[in-house]
Amino acid sequence: MIDGFLKEIANMFDFTRKDACEMMRSFQIEMENGLKGRKSSLKMLPSFVRRPKGNEKGDFLAIDLGGTNMRILAIRLLGQGKIETIGMRRFSLGKEIISKTEDVFFDFIADCVSAFLNEHKLDVFLEVGFTFSFPVIQTSILSGVLVSWTKGFAVKGVEGHDVVTLLDKAFKRKGLENLKLVALANDTVGTLVTQSYINPLCDMGVILGTGTNAAYPERLESITKFKGMWYSEEMIINIEWGGFDKIKMTKYDEQLDKDSENPGGQRMEKMVSGRYLGEIARRIMKEAFEKGLLGSKELKDIFLKPYSLTTEQLSLIASDKNIFNDSGIEGISDKDIRLLKEIGQIVSKRAARIASAAIAAVLTHMDKELKLEHVIAIDGSLFEKYKGFKENMDTMMKEIFPNQADKIHLSLTHDGSGIGAAIIAASLSSH
Ligand code: ADP
Ligand code: MG
Repeated sequence: MIDGFLKEIANMFDFTRKDACEMMRSFQIEMENGLKGRKSSLKMLPSFVRRPKGNEKGDFLAIDLGGTNMRILAIRLLGQGKIETIGMRRFSLGKEIISKTEDVFFDFIADCVSAFLNEHKLDVFLEVGFTFSFPVIQTSILSGVLVSWTKGFAVKGVEGHDVVTLLDKAFKRKGLENLKLVALANDTVGTLVTQSYINPLCDMGVILGTGTNAAYPERLESITKFKGMWYSEEMIINIEWGGFDKIKMTKYDEQLDKDSENPGGQRMEKMVSGRYLGEIARRIMKEAFEKGLLGSKELKDIFLKPYSLTTEQLSLIASDKNIFNDSGIEGISDKDIRLLKEIGQIVSKRAARIASAAIAAVLTHMDKELKLEHVIAIDGSLFEKYKGFKENMDTMMKEIFPNQADKIHLSLTHDGSGIGAAIIAASLSSH
């Protein structure tokens, strides 16, 4: 019975080479549409940033907002691709903060900045790079209107408003007069910029954490929707690929989407990123219980309540750690844990394969015949910590490019979402 059920799930979640090739084609069409300003599930947002030269220097403050934690960093750029972190602190963004009103939310950020500056005795004038990893329409490097919240954020009064202005006002309210906001960026752009500062072969930044997204440098002449002024021949595009919606979904994906706070939105993100993989697995476990396939007598809360099973827990199970004992949940049989482990494998494997297909689509958009070497900067706990995730991505890459996969290097890049904002700020003063 269980074997039959698992086989059925595995079939449903199978993402074959053929699926990947089809996805790559429609992904590239959506990229083109997005660049031309036509209707597309890929927003293809101009970032007003180009790749750095590696010689940018100076001290900067960076605020990295966009996931489970906010981070504040003081960064020293030494040139020649060298970076020093002077200080870094994480502030957790609890549910109560991410569902408040605009003023409370930005005051909270300003208070955190203030605490950080005090702690590190930083009372000098500092330029600030702000990484805000949500879909934002930018009209310059220092202005950006939030299109819509993603990843469970729901602060009122921010959608449709310029987040730089909102943060700047909070700085003023809190008397942070020696700070000057100079750049607004996205974590994907920051990750790309950070790895490029170190390695000029890098031409993609990818996030695989709470959410998923990517950025790459585009030739200015191909961004036909862009009518503004820009000083370089390239501009980095924030794809917002979490929104891609031309992938076949299972009934679990459809239900998860319907029950989510943004139905119809972030379809690919809901199949790939850390915020959702645990929830997909939970839904499958719940069905297994309803079919009478679980050894446990009653359905535990962790499988009953939406979002109770996290991707982190799924990842620990994949590494054979017993999360249930540690969190005091008793009465889940070994057989059920084995089932959950298999389901986790199926769900995470599909996520990794979709991520690789999306990368492959962007690479062949930039370099049709894959003649060059490409370093892909990847940040995020899902990529870094989920057992087998990178291997599953590499395998998919080899299936897509049997003879050229060795030209593609998936390179873990830490802290790009923080450091990148500092590098962008520095490159503004140097051009
Ligand atoms: P963020 O995306 O919030 O900036 P991370 O890159 O650290 O930060 O990603 C956090 C997400 O990664 C969590 O929401 C969770 O889904 C997932 N995650 C956390 N720990 C692990 C882990 N050990 N293995 C796999 N995924 C994890
Ligand atoms: Mg992050």
